[in-house]
Amino acid sequence: MEIDNTYAPPKAPNRLEPPSTATGQQVWRSGRDVVFVHGAALPPRCIHCNQAAQTWLDQRLVWHRNALYLLLCIGLVLYFVVAVVTRRRARVRVPLCAHHAKRRTRGLIAAWACGAASIVVPIVANGVNAKTIGIIPILSGALLVAAIAIGMATTRLLRATLIDADRVHVRGPCDAWMQELPPVDI
Ligand SMILES: [Zn+2]
Repeated sequence: MEIDNTYAPPKAPNRLEPPSTATGQQVWRSGRDVVFVHGAALPPRCIHCNQAAQTWLDQRLVWHRNALYLLLCIGLVLYFVVAVVTRRRARVRVPLCAHHAKRRTRGLIAAWACGAASIVVPIVANGVNAKTIGIIPILSGALLVAAIAIGMATTRLLRATLIDADRVHVRGPCDAWMQELPPVDI
């Protein structure tokens, strides 16, 4: 006869529990997110094209709740302090193929070159005649925007969408890379 134990744990599965690692699996997909246990190794395939990885880049991930952005309405300093105190961090080694690793390196060099040029151009332009000096701030600003755009477009890897004590959620890998992961319902 089964005894009714008021203090027994609930039999229904708790959907907030971390995915089981009993099978050795530590990386899953959940909707558009990749979900992995802290410290897990990602599959050795390039996150951009799903080809065999040649390079692994160490990436630090930072995440805080979106609601914190509301603090920006009160003040930048308050937001910054609360975000720094409550943020969660994780690290992951991101696999890339040789082509995308080179593309990322070239992008970084181009972004730094544009950034440096945006500073150097106004200095060098001091000797330019008065008729053309007006375009220097525009040119400098355009170079700075280009540096940011190139940097973001070519160096972007993974973006954290949730980090808790057990697992990390990120977005960024291509669909083919995602499809080879087992799904998990979280
Ligand atoms: Zn690739």
